Amino acid sequence: MKIICVGRNYAEHAKELQNEVPVIPVIFMKPKSALLLPGKPIYYPEFTDDLQYECEVVVRICKNGKFIQEKFANKYYDQVTLGIDFTARDLQREQQKKGLPWEIAKAFDGSAAVGTFVPITIETEVSNLAFQLKLNNETVQDGHTRNMIFSVDHIIAYISQFFTLHIGDMIFTGTPAGVGRVNAEDKLEGYLQGNKVLDVLVK
Ligand code: MG
Repeated sequence: MKIICVGRNYAEHAKELQNEVPVIPVIFMKPKSALLLPGKPIYYPEFTDDLQYECEVVVRICKNGKFIQEKFANKYYDQVTLGIDFTARDLQREQQKKGLPWEIAKAFDGSAAVGTFVPITIETEVSNLAFQLKLNNETVQDGHTRNMIFSVDHIIAYISQFFTLHIGDMIFTGTPAGVGRVNAEDKLEGYLQGNKVLDVLVK
């Protein structure tokens, strides 16, 4: 199982981090050891002083495929949830400054929190999803998938040129504006179409 992530897929978020709005998808991966299953807390890592949340729509691959055409891509995922792409922002900035890979900042243990997956139906059509993240009961991110720069189908077509997709792989589709720090004892809750699907405690 692999976790494929898209960076800077919402223009407002790219701008808040002073990044350019991309013309092709920005892709990175997290290993299986990064997965934080529903109900598990994240332990604040000792190597960072700036752990940040990025709430993202996550789709689950249901069919193996390579060189998937965009028009058929929707046959390759059937479940959706919200996830947190936890990021050690201080390490990421240092790595970016040096032009180095950013796995230590993005792919550490527990950095890919996922909520409970729900089947994709007309109500949870991936191109038309509203989602929110609450931090200690206050809404800090309020996104809509219509604001994605690259659609899920486009992302699948793009990444499957390079990587064979397998059943069970997950795709984190990018975060909207409003990312920020977490501290120990914080509580994160994610709502998809108004329904709570994600709950993560920081310890
Ligand atoms: Mg992200």
